[in-house]
Amino acid sequence: MSAVTLRNIRKDFGADAKVINGVDLRIEAGEFVVFVGPSGSGKSTLLRIIAGLEDASDGELLIGEQSCIDVPASQRGIAMVFQSYALYPHMTVYENMAFALRMAGTPRQEVLQRVERSAAILQISHLLDRKPKTLSGGQRQRVAIGRAIVREPRVFLFDEPLSNLDAALRQDMRVELSKLHQELGATMVYVTHDQVEAMTLAQRIVVFDGGVVQQVGTPAQLYENPSNLFVAGFLGAPK
Ligand code: ADP
Ligand code: MG
Repeated sequence: MSAVTLRNIRKDFGADAKVINGVDLRIEAGEFVVFVGPSGSGKSTLLRIIAGLEDASDGELLIGEQSCIDVPASQRGIAMVFQSYALYPHMTVYENMAFALRMAGTPRQEVLQRVERSAAILQISHLLDRKPKTLSGGQRQRVAIGRAIVREPRVFLFDEPLSNLDAALRQDMRVELSKLHQELGATMVYVTHDQVEAMTLAQRIVVFDGGVVQQVGTPAQLYENPSNLFVAGFLGAPK
């Protein structure tokens, strides 16, 4: 079953800024897909289109089997985690995680249960009463991921979520994210420019350049058989 389908998706910000130039992609339910590509290749824009934060200029987007035209972002069953954690500074960790559920009118008891369950998964149960400014970078990023998990989305979108963390923490979080994927069974679409991250996390890697897909494959397929010099260069494989 497909979780997200893109058909000939295009996006321009005016005639001189054609950013996405015809992307076709089918992401299977439960899959961990990683988007890689140089800065400016349109990765974030594509995630924002999937999330409903941006409209495509052309093409068709399906979430599950449903066309997304007229389905507002809040009803797509999608949660996005950004590189900048964007936590609410005046709220506790608990309140940060509960916020979206409260706004959606979720009953108080269910909010409590979901926040506690998500916090346990991320090992931040002991931090629920703290304010963001008292947390480390790694802890803040966990809270940011927690805010997505509580919503129990079908699809998680991660936009370079670890790039503000130091190398050791990034390594830890990579392991955690793999576990999370197994535990939740959700579809995950993950953008990074870190080749190691892509190779270790992805079931399939999508390589972008110039707003088009250069190649799609498993890490092994891409590494062993890059379809062109760009992909070979990007993944550091021998030509
Ligand atoms: P990536 O995430 O791969 O680095 P982006 O999707 O952020 O790439 O950006 C792709 C291109 O689109 C860049 O050239 C960027 O300047 C341009 N772009 C992104 N958002 C806008 C916008 N709102 N208005 C104009 N240009 C934009
Ligand atoms: Mg980006």
